[in-house]
Amino acid sequence: CGVFGMYSPEPADLAWFTYLGLFALQHRGQEAAGMCVSDGEKFHVEKDLGLVTQVFDERRLDAVRLANARVSIGHVRYSTTGSNLRFNAQPLTTRTNKGILGLAHNGNFVNAREVRNAMLMEGALFATTNDSEVMLNLIARESHLDLIEATAAAMQQLKGGYACVLMSRTQLLGFRDPHGVRPLVIGQREDGAYVIASEPCALFTVGARLIRDVQPGELVWVDRDGLHSLMVEPKAPTPCAFEWIYFARSDSELDGVDTHESRVRMGIQLAKEHPVEADVVVPVPDSGIGAAIGYARQSGIPFDYGLYKNPYAGRTFIAPTQEARELKVKMKLSPTSAVRGKRVILVDDSIVRGTTSSQIVNLLREAGATEVHFRVSSPPIKHPCFYGIDTAARKELVASTHSIEEIRQLIGADSLSFISEGGIREAVNGKGLCLACFNGEYPAGTPLLNDVDKLA
Ligand code: 5GP
Ligand code: SF4
Ligand code: MG
Repeated sequence: CGVFGMYSPEPADLAWFTYLGLFALQHRGQEAAGMCVSDGEKFHVEKDLGLVTQVFDERRLDAVRLANARVSIGHVRYSTTGSNLRFNAQPLTTRTNKGILGLAHNGNFVNAREVRNAMLMEGALFATTNDSEVMLNLIARESHLDLIEATAAAMQQLKGGYACVLMSRTQLLGFRDPHGVRPLVIGQREDGAYVIASEPCALFTVGARLIRDVQPGELVWVDRDGLHSLMVEPKAPTPCAFEWIYFARSDSELDGVDTHESRVRMGIQLAKEHPVEADVVVPVPDSGIGAAIGYARQSGIPFDYGLYKNPYAGRTFIAPTQEARELKVKMKLSPTSAVRGKRVILVDDSIVRGTTSSQIVNLLREAGATEVHFRVSSPPIKHPCFYGIDTAARKELVASTHSIEEIRQLIGADSLSFISEGGIREAVNGKGLCLACFNGEYPAGTPLLNDVDKLA
């Protein structure tokens, strides 16, 4: 998911700014979009299934627009926990003794079910199957604390990987899990307005510059008096490696590391670890482009445009069923003449189920490629993600049930290699990273065993 929040000391068209911010974050979720806007008294909410541009037509945008708006948050959703249902769209809102609150959440709380069950026993009510509602309810329950203290208390109870923005009528809050698994950045406009968002690309579209990342375990808030910070529970930083491998936009810099540059380094590393003789390096667009540039640069083999991507097609992974995903690959990609009669090195960022990969290898052969050598700029994905990236249940992860040689046969490539774990570390930050979907070491905990249907 993607989150966005804005606080403006002067009245501003926050519905429009939030729309722009969400549009910049559309790659982080395509199932639903929503926003809340307040002027200190009124509090408007609009959300629905669909892309940002579909949900917010002029009528809908007008419905949230307030002449004297000062606070807003927004969300684009990509379903992880809680299925693709309208009432799971965010922001979630609720009325509390602290006034009406709106929450937009990226990530997953691994102990949400336990906390929810304990609260149900005490008579709490839940309207959705979304674990964000557990967070909102926890905050609401701490009626003796102010909003900042209550949010800090909720952060200490919920475990996992998350980044959230929360608003009341007069405050904007942003907070990031203790390990900083999910990203969150702070920006500011010349006119003093603050922005908190999943990625810097959302700051730039609203005219803000990047100030800094929210730190792991940090709670920040903005009000009339400016930006404030409280370190609630900082632990050793392990940001999600997958943000740099695939998820984040290639013009975003997260935790001081530029996404595009890190992808190029992954490709360089991949070429060092797994060289092969060939005529041309071809990326799977768009996610394989950075690594293919690096691979070509390091190997000296020319980079070429071997796969056309229909710009009107979305991200295939986000299509909810296998059938839909298969159809979407055909709608999305087709080979160009650059592969005809060539030995091709095909570079992609990841193999999840193997669906895309096998279809693409097929397409290239049909188009006359004489050899197809598949190079992947992430290690084999063997474990589920519990922190908000929907890399599928374990049984669907082809690398959790097959050896590399078996995958090679399945996808029909002449050779297949993945970057090493050490290679990814080096290419990203040379420091702490979550690599749990590759090595099974979960820095921010896992759900209780009987809750782990993803492991089945
Ligand atoms: P597969 O070949 O395993 O079916 O799909 C791999 C492709 O899925 C890669 O091109 C990768 O960029 C893409 N992909 C799209 N969305 C996601 C996502 O959310 N997670 C992962 N792991 N891969 C994704
Ligand atoms: Fe990212 Fe993988 Fe960790 Fe999930 S398990 S947070 S996708 S590195
Ligand atoms: Mg891709």
